[in-house]
Amino acid sequence: MLSTMQDVPLLISRILRHGATVHASSQVITWTDGAEPRRRSFAEIGSRTAQLAHALRDELGVREGDRVGTLMWNHAEHVETYFAAPSMGAVLHTLNLRLPPQQLAWVVNHAEDRVVLVDGSLLPLLVPLLPHLRSVEHVVVSGPGDRSGLEGVRPRVHDYEELIAGRPTAYDWPELDERRAAAMCYTSGTTGDPKGVVFSHRSVYLHSMQVNMAQSMGLTDADTSLVVVPQFHVNAWGLPHAALMTGFNLLMPDRFLQPGPLAEMIESVRPTHAAAVPTIWQGLLAELTARPRDVSTLGQVTIGGSACPPALMEAFDALGMRVCHAWGMTETSPLGTIARAPGHAVGTDEEFGYRVTQGRFPASVEARLRGPDGDTLPWDGRSAGELEVRGPWIAGAYYPGPDGEPLRPAEKFSEDGWLKTGDVGTITQEGYLALTDRAKDVIKSGGEWISSVELENALMGHPEVAEAAVVAVPDEKWGERPLATVVLKEGATADFEALRAFLAGKVARWQLPERWSVVQTVPKTSVGKFDKKVIRKQYADGDLDVTQL
Ligand code: AMP
Repeated sequence: MLSTMQDVPLLISRILRHGATVHASSQVITWTDGAEPRRRSFAEIGSRTAQLAHALRDELGVREGDRVGTLMWNHAEHVETYFAAPSMGAVLHTLNLRLPPQQLAWVVNHAEDRVVLVDGSLLPLLVPLLPHLRSVEHVVVSGPGDRSGLEGVRPRVHDYEELIAGRPTAYDWPELDERRAAAMCYTSGTTGDPKGVVFSHRSVYLHSMQVNMAQSMGLTDADTSLVVVPQFHVNAWGLPHAALMTGFNLLMPDRFLQPGPLAEMIESVRPTHAAAVPTIWQGLLAELTARPRDVSTLGQVTIGGSACPPALMEAFDALGMRVCHAWGMTETSPLGTIARAPGHAVGTDEEFGYRVTQGRFPASVEARLRGPDGDTLPWDGRSAGELEVRGPWIAGAYYPGPDGEPLRPAEKFSEDGWLKTGDVGTITQEGYLALTDRAKDVIKSGGEWISSVELENALMGHPEVAEAAVVAVPDEKWGERPLATVVLKEGATADFEALRAFLAGKVARWQLPERWSVVQTVPKTSVGKFDKKVIRKQYADGDLDVTQL
């Protein structure tokens, strides 16, 4: 028997229409290096989005299914493109501006972007690539920047404001199939070429509702969210879409992502929520310690993208900023789990123990753990295996490139269609995920596994350690052993013996690293995660000054 419900497709244009009318006065606030941030109401965003869609269709000839690339920081114009391209039936393709140039060109060609919208400040990155971009017919430049390099280039060049000026402020958004492609984003490609994940209108819509649930980020129109996570990193974790659903203001940092400006914008615009990877928060913490500011409005901080060290959580708690830890991947849209303690533990001594896990699965994300032999492991909080997930906003395949069949490599998808995350961990009976490592980063020492993340977290709890990354290195006797690389805080006096002694009470004795190195910085990937591939190579090439205890 069929239901008697209306069959209304879950479209991004519906989120836009709702935000621009019901939450008309909410704002996208873009930080500038001038005196005042730029403020644009959701009503204006709605009108300008329609104007942009008209321009893309009528002036640039963008048709349904065409890919529209963005090489942009977080700001109002990027939000407009977020809604214009999918709502008109095209596909938004956010380009990771931190990818090596060659990879960036590869990604544009692979997705066959017809248009690229680019910040004027990022032209020095785009212009040298243009001769290699086969499909790009139009470049739309937004904001200030030296445009002289664009003279005589093959794609037609437009100015964003001139392009949209005078066009109609309403658009008859098409009634699309909700399963159609809305946006795409490539994984950061730490192994091999990046892989394209294509989100549907339906997946974005449902994911946005999850972001807004009280047990997730739970923001309302009384909130302002500082979106530090880049719009090119998995749809800025769904925050722009979620904002137009519930009306919270978006505070966009543009290109001002250094700790100083971030502290300044928190103090002056007074957001209530912020989202970013741990390395950003480590930097902000150092800044706030050196130069205290009034950050009292910032009640909730969502940290994800890599494991949040418990010491960082404690430090933020002490400043009155409550950290909420979350796990996800490009392939999971990205919200997979979020760490809010269950009701019975809130306000008790047990609460912190829940908050430092990766968090609980929401109803729409099914999870299972697979042991080394492929057997499904129990949710007992002890049995560790590879996490596999499925659900309406989890990828079931990768983008093949034009005309190809979707790619389902066996190392990423199980035979019955679950996504193999490559993350190793445990799940408790209550559905809390605790990751111990990436499958490829775990240290296999004499038949036992050592969690690199556990060692890092313990080390980063030392008062003189700013950052620590631990990788597996070959060892004749044990197969692999941990190498600890540490960034010491200014004026630190701790030596390796002291650090090892500090770890001794926190992890099993046989897990203690005997190889140590002090480094200036931990190498980071294009989205700010520890790049362990680089550390392993530095070690193999003899580029690290290693002390053996
Ligand atoms: P990406 O697709 O670039 O966002 O990377 C996804 C990967 O980041 C995951 O598979 C995890 O290995 C890692 N990751 C994301 N969030 C967390 C977290 N909260 N704790 C540990 N690892 C995380």
